[in-house]
Amino acid sequence: MDIQFYNTLTHKREPFAPIDPPHVYMYNCGPTVYDFAHIGNFRAFVFADVLRRFLELAGYEVHQVMNLTDVGHMTDDQVADGGGEDKMQVAARRLKEAKKSGKLTAGDVTNPDDPYQVARFYINAFIEDARALGLKIASDPPNGSNIPLNMPRATDHVGKMMKLILQLVENRHAYVGSDGAVYYDVQSFPDYGKLSGNTLDRLRTGAGGRIDDQHQAVKKHPADFLLWKPDKSHIMKWESPWGVGYPGWHIECSAMAMELTGRETLDIHTGGEDNIFPHHECEIAQSCGATGKPSFSRFWMHTRFLLVEGEKMSKSKGNFFTVRDLIAKGVDPAVIRFELLKAHYRSNMNFTMKGLEDSASAVRRLREAAAQFEKAGGQAPTSVSHPVIDDFLAALADDLNVSGALGVVFKWLGEVHDDPAQSLAVLRRVDSVLNVLRVSPSAAGSGDDNTAELCKSLDAARASKDFAAADRIRKELQDAGYEVLTSKTAGTTVRRKLI
Ligand code: AMP
Ligand code: ZN
Repeated sequence: MDIQFYNTLTHKREPFAPIDPPHVYMYNCGPTVYDFAHIGNFRAFVFADVLRRFLELAGYEVHQVMNLTDVGHMTDDQVADGGGEDKMQVAARRLKEAKKSGKLTAGDVTNPDDPYQVARFYINAFIEDARALGLKIASDPPNGSNIPLNMPRATDHVGKMMKLILQLVENRHAYVGSDGAVYYDVQSFPDYGKLSGNTLDRLRTGAGGRIDDQHQAVKKHPADFLLWKPDKSHIMKWESPWGVGYPGWHIECSAMAMELTGRETLDIHTGGEDNIFPHHECEIAQSCGATGKPSFSRFWMHTRFLLVEGEKMSKSKGNFFTVRDLIAKGVDPAVIRFELLKAHYRSNMNFTMKGLEDSASAVRRLREAAAQFEKAGGQAPTSVSHPVIDDFLAALADDLNVSGALGVVFKWLGEVHDDPAQSLAVLRRVDSVLNVLRVSPSAAGSGDDNTAELCKSLDAARASKDFAAADRIRKELQDAGYEVLTSKTAGTTVRRKLI
């Protein structure tokens, strides 16, 4: 199959083939676990999941690693290196305040001064949200911890980070500054700037505030970035050859990517567009500087940002949503997933309530089709080849053209289906990528015994023209999360609201 992906590194579409087929080694920059992940973060993660599932449907075996950043991501890391406060410190303060004001129960985080507890709290929340959105996360490790195997925590891999830094010092790509911190020497790496276009010449002549100026006096070049920061007072700290301190954010991903995939050159590395610079530019410099390999990842794929109703998401504008906010409002997680995956990953996605309603209709249509096929044809065969699957795959092979792929599926659903068992099998294959057919507990079925009784009572009330009673029963059903449907032939029925 001819797969083409847009590669940020080469600024063009290229045929995709893994180094060691059928294996694909993919690393996704994961969440900083200092707060609940928002729907923008999940756009990046759902994209990674769809990419993985597409590659699997195309016959590859995908080794996917998505890290959990629980130390060293500073509040100023987007514009400066190592500036500001560790985000875990910010989280600890926030949780302390929440505890004081009674918003946080003792069972959640007993001691907000323990950053590991704070991290665990948000990691568990992230995994819960990721499961709700149908991310394909590995089964839990046998020790009962809630962290799936392919989601490494940065704090568990500090040893590998130190090894990499030692290697970089030995290879003369890193130096210890007069402040005792270890910096990467960007001038030692001629390819610096290749990914983002922020070459050293451009950065030297003023990067528009995009590089650090706090440590100018001790650095050889303003774009040199922090690998290890000695700091005995930091919220999380480790003994190292450079004193007690903590690693820089960028080195974490280089270390975890190589350690967890066992590869020095990956097939695919992903992240949101804000990760391109400085984070991924620095990851390349570090990884290639340490291994001597010409490439750290063959493909670099980045999702554009998600906007809400056309604007940047921000708490002050009241348009900031976490996944759990939306689920609490009664939105089925599969509808959120569908909404996040349906726009092309390289265009800004505009998250709107109207869009969410359209996604709910689409998910309902897919689920109703599956139910119809099931009713008419029983069990689906386990393997099936069908032009719809070929066309669905071909659209996704075209730089993950999800809307084209959905177009194929919905057009086919509108056609006559003579072989329901085969149609069900086709739909299940398609859903191995979309993953919206599974029904979450909050959106289960078309009602239980109790709702069936209420529907009967509603019909009886209506027949005897007791409209007050009919209204009361309808409201009771609606309050329980159902849409009430009336038809002349079937009388009153209910279906779960998806939004
Ligand atoms: P963070 O938790 O800040 O480290 O971000 C986790 C991931 O979410 C990164 O890959 C970011 O690039 C991505 N991200 C953050 N905000 C957005 C957004 N509004 N839209 C899409 N991706 C985002
Ligand atoms: Zn990263």
